[in-house]
Amino acid sequence: MSQPAAQPAYVIDQMISAKSIAARIEALARLIETEFHGTEKLVVVGLLRGSFVFIADLVRELRLPVEVDFLEVSSYGDGMESSREVRILKDLRTGIEGRDVLVVEDIVDTGYTLSHVIRLLNSRNPHKLRTIALLDKPSRREVDVRADWTGFEIPDEFVVGYGIDYAQRDRNLPHIGKVRFTE
Ligand code: 5GP
Ligand code: MG
Ligand code: MG
Repeated sequence: MSQPAAQPAYVIDQMISAKSIAARIEALARLIETEFHGTEKLVVVGLLRGSFVFIADLVRELRLPVEVDFLEVSSYGDGMESSREVRILKDLRTGIEGRDVLVVEDIVDTGYTLSHVIRLLNSRNPHKLRTIALLDKPSRREVDVRADWTGFEIPDEFVVGYGIDYAQRDRNLPHIGKVRFTE
């Protein structure tokens, strides 16, 4: 019988409560509504998979006509080099030329993913492209990029919950927590 891969034991310490996340999303939604006031139909692009809970809550706070689409990219380094590449695993269904677009990301860490996605989507000539990230770890940045709006700045900790996983677990936690290994 095959055994599941051994995972070190860990506990999750709450860092940001579900209530704080909800309050922050309400405030961010008002800023986004102002920025996109008058847009006929905003294309909200969630980066899979980590942003799926955030985008679901965010679009339900937006009093704007929106269309929802998803983009899945995978980042990988090549070991020794600091050059990172980002591959498209699932492209948008929507053509964004001339459209107003909001990219929704879970965490900006080194910044490679967000900067690549911005470059990629800008090459399709949207009318306006803005970005929002639930979490930002500025101390980890390797590429000079920041989201137009950020939910929370956090220290260099490995976090899970609210859509964000550790080895595909814990996405269903309603809050953001930090992983603490116990062995
Ligand atoms: P980067 O900004 O380094 O290109 O990549 C950001 C991505 O790395 C995030 O979208 C997320 O998938 C992953 N990531 C960064 N920090 C964390 C973390 O603390 N926990 C988890 N689960 N993923 C993280
Ligand atoms: Mg992500
Ligand atoms: Mg992940």
